[in-house]
Amino acid sequence: AALPRVTYSNIAEDFSGVHAHFGKVIADVRGRQLDLERPNHVGGRDSTEGAAYDAPCPIDRRLSLGTFFAAAPRQVDSAVAAARAAQRGWRDLGWPRRVALARAAADLLEARKFEAAAACLLEVGKSRMEALGEVEEAIDLIRFYAGEMEANDGFRRDLARANPREETFDVLRPYGVFAVIAPFNFPVALSLGMSICALLAGNTVVFKPSPMAGLTGRLLTDCLVEAGLPAGVFNLICGGAETGAALAAHSGIDGIAFTGSHAVGMRMLREFGCGGRHARPVLAEMGGKNPTYVAASADLDTAVSGVLRSAFGLQGQKCSAGSVVFLHETLADPFLDRLAAAADALVVGDPCERESFMGPLISEAALERFETSRMQAKSAGGTVHGGERLTGGLYDHGAYVRPAIVTGLPDDHALHRDELFMPFLTVRTFSDLGNAIARGNAVPYGLTAGVYTGEPAELEEFLETAEAGVLYANRASGATTGAWPGIQTFCGWKGSGTGSKGGLGTWYLPQFMREQSHTIM
Ligand code: GLU
Repeated sequence: AALPRVTYSNIAEDFSGVHAHFGKVIADVRGRQLDLERPNHVGGRDSTEGAAYDAPCPIDRRLSLGTFFAAAPRQVDSAVAAARAAQRGWRDLGWPRRVALARAAADLLEARKFEAAAACLLEVGKSRMEALGEVEEAIDLIRFYAGEMEANDGFRRDLARANPREETFDVLRPYGVFAVIAPFNFPVALSLGMSICALLAGNTVVFKPSPMAGLTGRLLTDCLVEAGLPAGVFNLICGGAETGAALAAHSGIDGIAFTGSHAVGMRMLREFGCGGRHARPVLAEMGGKNPTYVAASADLDTAVSGVLRSAFGLQGQKCSAGSVVFLHETLADPFLDRLAAAADALVVGDPCERESFMGPLISEAALERFETSRMQAKSAGGTVHGGERLTGGLYDHGAYVRPAIVTGLPDDHALHRDELFMPFLTVRTFSDLGNAIARGNAVPYGLTAGVYTGEPAELEEFLETAEAGVLYANRASGATTGAWPGIQTFCGWKGSGTGSKGGLGTWYLPQFMREQSHTIM
């Protein structure tokens, strides 16, 4: 019988059969698929041009995920040229054929679901269930957008006729070549969400995964290529910031889909979006500082569970992470007691093991930022519960930390405002919900927000005034995290992005096309 699907809302259920199978696949991928050469893929051919680099496994930095090849400007040129050469043919293939190819890729990924989740777990340090959930999400994303293309008849609409002898219609057309620049934290779902929309729309793609996530980058490239995408339609180039900058500055691309930091996204908007002879699309997802409000009427068990999952799932390395919680002053103490006890009970360890809820931070640089934030909190008079670096055994070979809960910071402290991307939850208190929402809104971001309340009027106030694209109420599975294709639109306000994005949004796909009106006498 088929094993059940893992989604973010059922992630806490007991999936014994799934674990037994997944454990074997993880061991197999770990034993046989690491430390291999993983070429780029350009113009339908594998390529080992560029500077070879080894990517360490964050779970155990003595292991290498593989050897990858950082594309230098010359290789970026070749990838863009290959994408350009393939674009007209890909456009002319027609959307029904592109939809069929996308669905074939989803089927291939589904067949390799456990392997992809194992690769994702090993390269990102994601827990078993989050890794499986992510690959399920990626499969659903492809199918969701294929369905959107179909439901919208390829985005062609007949328009009213001013004259019976005239035919008039409106059609959305591809821009040309899209660069897709992806982050490490959702290396399968975000990469495929962005890429599949570009492709379905009729654009060709030059894809650069995070330098930490080349393993899944290569695996998803294989699914697309094996599905039958013509040569040059999807090109993979690996590398770090330099490769990304060369790609984002390339005069041969027509648009960028990007998920990453605010600073890099804003630079792309300025330099690529507005820096050429005409405006060009930059679809950017740029992080969050996401508040959760726990009102006096909240169900505490539900609120503790939701806050814990969204603050510390994937070690807090989600742009949707619930990184600041506002507690009504009457329940602050009991809530914090329960939250601290629940955080202390979380297992931090090797994510290959079933019981690990948190794996390592992605890098030593992230660990340094974590330790700096902890020191800043203390020197500002805050109290940090948890937050210790773990040592001994496997812990000595990765950046393993206990989740941190920080109370007593001045209300205007930067740690309440800046995105940290780590398991670091700051706590603020309130007596009036409206006032708390105003304080939560006063950050440069606006991605997700959550509320726990039993009062309809408070729920209404939250829904009407929270300045964020994705709002959640009373969810035990995650206060601010866990959006799913076709269920939630994932969209950022203010500094969080340029609209619906993350490869998951009702109005995301049309942004990869430009409108054209046809009037034919
Ligand atoms: N889609 C994920 C969620 O809803 C977050 C994606 C991200 O962190 O970029 O939790």
